[in-house]
Amino acid sequence: MSGIDTPSSIAPLREFVVAFGRLLDSAPDEPRILREGGALLRTLVARDDWLPEAFAQPDPTRYQQFLLHADSTERFSVVSFVWGPGQATPVHDHTVWGLIGMLRGAEYSQGFAPDGTGRVQAHGDAVRLDAGDVEAVSPTVGDLHRVHNAHADRVSISIHVYGANIGAVRRHTYPTDPAQDVRKPFVSGYSNALLPNLWDRSAELRSSSTPA
Ligand code: FE
Repeated sequence: MSGIDTPSSIAPLREFVVAFGRLLDSAPDEPRILREGGALLRTLVARDDWLPEAFAQPDPTRYQQFLLHADSTERFSVVSFVWGPGQATPVHDHTVWGLIGMLRGAEYSQGFAPDGTGRVQAHGDAVRLDAGDVEAVSPTVGDLHRVHNAHADRVSISIHVYGANIGAVRRHTYPTDPAQDVRKPFVSGYSNALLPNLWDRSAELRSSSTPA
């Protein structure tokens, strides 16, 4: 395992969070965030050589949500979702905009719509994301979905960006079984206590320095 300190290879993630912060500095509306932020995420997941191994580890019991970066004023967060074989979320909402970029493997996202009783019904066909694909969720474009690993025999990883510190947002899961009660509140938290170090730029400085 390469550990959490991989300053040379993590540069694409640093460049992504810098560019995303600059995009939000321009006070874009949501369609522009989804369009231009989605393009930034597409560039990030077009290559799969930057995610440190520590944030790519599956757990046999449930999917993992590793915080990779949180904006200092919690305007956005970046999370690696690591899906073990066959692992799935419950139906859930986000309450903020979100972008999902497939880094490795594949997943299915099935949209749901409220049925007016606190329960939900599948809405449209499931969307399959393969490596390099990007999808959006939000209260305006569709906020409810259930996600599962498309592979029953290997790990898949998606990189998510949300318009908040998503692990600390009050959200809901929804029952699809009519025998169950209505939606339940949840706060997802994160699977990791330590963050990747995006900010050690010493290698690039040393390689370009010309000491007097
Ligand atoms: Fe989701």
